[in-house]
Amino acid sequence: MEFAFPPPKFRLPDNRLLVALPTRDYLRLLPSLEQVTLRQNEILYECDGPMRYVYFPEQSLISLLTYLEDGKSVEVGVVGNPGLLGTYIALGGRSSFHEAVVEITGSALRMKADAFLAEFQRDGIFQRKILDYIRCQILMTSQSAACNRVHLLKRRLARLLLTIHDRIGSKEFPMTQEFMGRILGAPRSEVTKAAIRFRQGGLIEYQYNNIKIVDRRRLEAIVCECHWVVAEEFDRSFPRNIPARFTVMPGRAQPSWQRERASRISRTAKLTGISVASCDHSCVK
Ligand SMILES: [Zn+2]
Repeated sequence: MEFAFPPPKFRLPDNRLLVALPTRDYLRLLPSLEQVTLRQNEILYECDGPMRYVYFPEQSLISLLTYLEDGKSVEVGVVGNPGLLGTYIALGGRSSFHEAVVEITGSALRMKADAFLAEFQRDGIFQRKILDYIRCQILMTSQSAACNRVHLLKRRLARLLLTIHDRIGSKEFPMTQEFMGRILGAPRSEVTKAAIRFRQGGLIEYQYNNIKIVDRRRLEAIVCECHWVVAEEFDRSFPRNIPARFTVMPGRAQPSWQRERASRISRTAKLTGISVASCDHSCVK
């Protein structure tokens, strides 16, 4: 059964996990979702701290940090679109293993933890999508562990840039050398050299801690296979095409990530001869 659209106060989500839900499930969640703007350096969870909300990032990006005894922090993951911050709640956790800090300012939808848990325990499609995301996160974490051990820094940097582009849907974003060093597990000086080489090669513009991806296709040619392994799993679990029920609303702009990705898939299909229907853009290597 489909609902008549647009219902009152309907809000088109810009998070593929929410978009993947059937209409009736999304409408049931809607009263519990609140749009917020997450600001850079805002701490959403502290280590061992309470988790009062779960967050579904849209254009924002969240870092997960773990702290060592000497006070140093290490980046152990990022959360963006598609995805959510708060999976521990679904797994029975009462406090956060990590500190969750906003890395890139942008919008998100948040939901109170008890409402999220009640919805998760309904044992329906929402629960399955959350579990899909947890599976993707496990893959991303394990792939990153392998990547940081064996792949060249320039290929890992390309992976980081492409991942952020995919998560926030913008080619331009703030990124400090500290953040790059943390997530790549490399000295800042080495990361800076790699970024300068990308800039000199015309792949990116990099100025005052702001990065703009100039040539995504050349980054895709450099990136290691880890990017494609993770991207394929995310795309399989959370397809990039917005279901028709979300595109029939008059006067509502298509989200930026959807426009850009549709265009990229189309370009790739022309270059490779692979049909758009079967191309998930992982064919570009
Ligand atoms: Zn790799």
